[in-house]
Amino acid sequence: MKPAPVNYHRAASVGDALALLSEFGEESKVIAGGQSLVPMMSFRLARPEHLVDITRVPGLDAIELVDDELAIGALTTHQAVLESPIVRGSRGHRMVATTMRHVGHLPIRTRGTVGGSIAHADGSAEWPLLCVLLGARIVAEGSTGEREIAAEEFFFGLYTTALEMDEIVTRVVLPAAEGATGFAEYGLRHGDFALAAAGVVLPSPGGAAGSRVVVSGAAPAPSRLPRAESALDDEADEAALRTAVGADLDDLEVDDDYQRGLVTGMVTDAVEEARKR
Ligand SMILES: Cc1cc2nc3c(=O)[nH]c(=O)nc-3n(C[C@H](O)[C@H](O)[C@H](O)COP(=O)(O)OP(=O)(O)OC[C@H]3O[C@@H](n4cnc5c(N)ncnc54)[C@H](O)[C@@H]3O)c2cc1C
Repeated sequence: MKPAPVNYHRAASVGDALALLSEFGEESKVIAGGQSLVPMMSFRLARPEHLVDITRVPGLDAIELVDDELAIGALTTHQAVLESPIVRGSRGHRMVATTMRHVGHLPIRTRGTVGGSIAHADGSAEWPLLCVLLGARIVAEGSTGEREIAAEEFFFGLYTTALEMDEIVTRVVLPAAEGATGFAEYGLRHGDFALAAAGVVLPSPGGAAGSRVVVSGAAPAPSRLPRAESALDDEADEAALRTAVGADLDDLEVDDDYQRGLVTGMVTDAVEEARKR
């Protein structure tokens, strides 16, 4: 199926895009890489009357490392992150680059954008999980100015975020992981959305931060697993870690045994990967 007819507008600047969004209101949608929006329009799951194309807006595709924080512009593609010497060269962010290998296939990664993935908030996508894991801040610009939203307060549920209708994600700021990192995901085929995924940060000895464990596949948005985090802080063995993950999944009301097994397996795989580092 092809998308329904739509009015197309190319924004020349963020201000231009914001003006178009406020002019057309709920009938309008931003389009970036189009890798999620166009399929949704084709299936009539989204039917905007006006598309505001931000792909030619200058200055939204920079990758910068400032004071150990990585700032990635919204229009940066997944492939550009994967290949970025800045991301790969930053010890606390290397997992951001390597995780991009799991995002779809090359044609999707070369068109799909970081901002699009964050705004779209698919519960299985890698970016929302990474943002929560690393305690990212999402920077959004709207008619009343710019604001930063903590990732844990940004992703509400499937395709639902704290972003207002008249706001655009302009960049994401990712603090460096304070310790060893691991990531694991399971999908039916390479390039498919994950059925379950997990990211972990194990603190460096003597570090102030605790362990972090974030999973997808247990709830509509990425979820931290507090009992698993405590178990890792207490240097629990694998059996105790599995029990803790099970208790977290009870809290999240994950009843399906297959899904529970997948999520638990991804957590233990991610921990194993982190411990190798
Ligand atoms: C076959 C296939 C497999 C895929 N596999 C994966 C996968 O494994 N993992 C994964 O994470 N993704 C996957 N994707 C999705 C892909 O990563 C998309 O690139 C991403 O989800 C959306 O980015 P986009 O730039 O294409 O956004 P678009 O499709 O252009 O937009 C998506 C949504 O975000 C909004 N939006 C876009 N940019 C902004 C912005 N800057 N500010 C505010 N709102 C904005 C749009 O209005 C729209 O609602 C897959 C896609 C396909 C088609």
